[in-house]
Amino acid sequence: MSTRKEPSFRESVDLMFNRAVAVMDLPPGLEEKIRVCNATYTVRFGVRLRGQIQTFTGYRSVHSEHMEPVKGGIRYSLGVNQDEVEALAALMTYKCALVEAPFGGSKGGLCIDPRQYDEHELELITRRFAYELAKRDLIHPSQNVPAPDMGTGEREMAWIADQYRRMNTTDINAAACVTGKPTHAGGIQGRTEATGRGVQYALQEFFRHKEDVKAAGLSGTLDGKRVIVQGLGNVGYHAAKFLSEQDGCKVTAIIERDGGLMDESGLDVEAVRNWIAKHGGVDGYPEGKYIRDGSKYLENDCDILVPAALEGVINLDNAQNIKASLIIEAANGPVTAGADDILRKKGCVIIPDMYANAGGVTVSYFEWVKNLSHIRFGRMNRREEEARNQLVVDELERLDHYLGDAWSMSPEFKQKFLKGAGELELVRSGLDDTMRLAYQQMREIWHERDDVDDLRMASYIAAITKVEASYRAKGL
Ligand code: GLU
Repeated sequence: MSTRKEPSFRESVDLMFNRAVAVMDLPPGLEEKIRVCNATYTVRFGVRLRGQIQTFTGYRSVHSEHMEPVKGGIRYSLGVNQDEVEALAALMTYKCALVEAPFGGSKGGLCIDPRQYDEHELELITRRFAYELAKRDLIHPSQNVPAPDMGTGEREMAWIADQYRRMNTTDINAAACVTGKPTHAGGIQGRTEATGRGVQYALQEFFRHKEDVKAAGLSGTLDGKRVIVQGLGNVGYHAAKFLSEQDGCKVTAIIERDGGLMDESGLDVEAVRNWIAKHGGVDGYPEGKYIRDGSKYLENDCDILVPAALEGVINLDNAQNIKASLIIEAANGPVTAGADDILRKKGCVIIPDMYANAGGVTVSYFEWVKNLSHIRFGRMNRREEEARNQLVVDELERLDHYLGDAWSMSPEFKQKFLKGAGELELVRSGLDDTMRLAYQQMREIWHERDDVDDLRMASYIAAITKVEASYRAKGL
């Protein structure tokens, strides 16, 4: 966190919003209506644990209901407070608009350090929190649909879904009350990896545009790019894993809660992740150079910096020292408004959070649709697709017979071509398409408007334009 006086997280989001609306032509009053958070519910509840009652404080904030249900994760962290939840809810509104997930924005949080509790205790706490929210329709398939966020995952979502079902025994759409559930409890394949996968697709799309790559002072493809990742949680781990295993990137530093590891020849993401799972941190990892103040590695020379942990980690204290020329915000709000100004002036290109980490909510949208339609994607058409592909292969093989050595079908091609798309392939395809289209919308605004010179401002303009259209259609 910054040692200098900086706006709060919510103020920082508002400043970024203001910069965008200053060049837009919104009707009077609508600007304020879109910016403000509609409502924030605070709940304090007690749970009997270890022989005494412990009181917890939780929030569910609804930023905009221009579309319903509203959507956004539930975070478990000691840093949770009303300002943070409201900032995150606002980002959800813009994020959903940008990637055309048909939701308003919401966010929840529980002020708790989940590592201090065992599984049974966490279940009691989660079920009680879910009860408090569900009885006020703040968990509801058509009104408010939570999802995982920092400190929560599939397990918590399964408890929430079950709690809702117990309270709404005749709701046939109960499974759609929350997303990010395990696949055996109504979830969808590819949801856990989705945010990290979205970061990978975002970078792949960025590197398809030579002009944009040049604007970031880079050249070529993702292959060989030096990447620094902060936070090897669900998002950072999957992004680092896919970028290093599939795109040829080199992860030269990993920053975690207890310190940072650096190895210019590239760290083994899987091995570091396993080490953290076993030892609770990166300290003691046999390879690379360890330092206790890991945030120093944010300032290392690299091609791509991936902050995938907390908000406000790039701030007035360190912005000037950041050497990366491309930053992709896998976390929500990792760059403060003040740091954003400094980095922009330095010529650093920032792929903004509302786009970069939208993979999670995009696949949540697919899961919600799956739950409402009560059928797995691909169930009806997969074998039919395979049968048609078989027809083509049979015909080609018949020709092959006549052509002799002049032509033949490679076995790899045949195997790939014959395989029909299952749920995972369809989810990845839908996510890739979403990330490509959203990027293209942003870059068009970025390059075509003289009064816009960065992707963040372009992302706000693209998102706010859609929210505005929705309000107008309602006659507001
Ligand atoms: N918590 C994630 C986010 O910040 C996912 C939200 C969702 O899937 O609804 O985008």
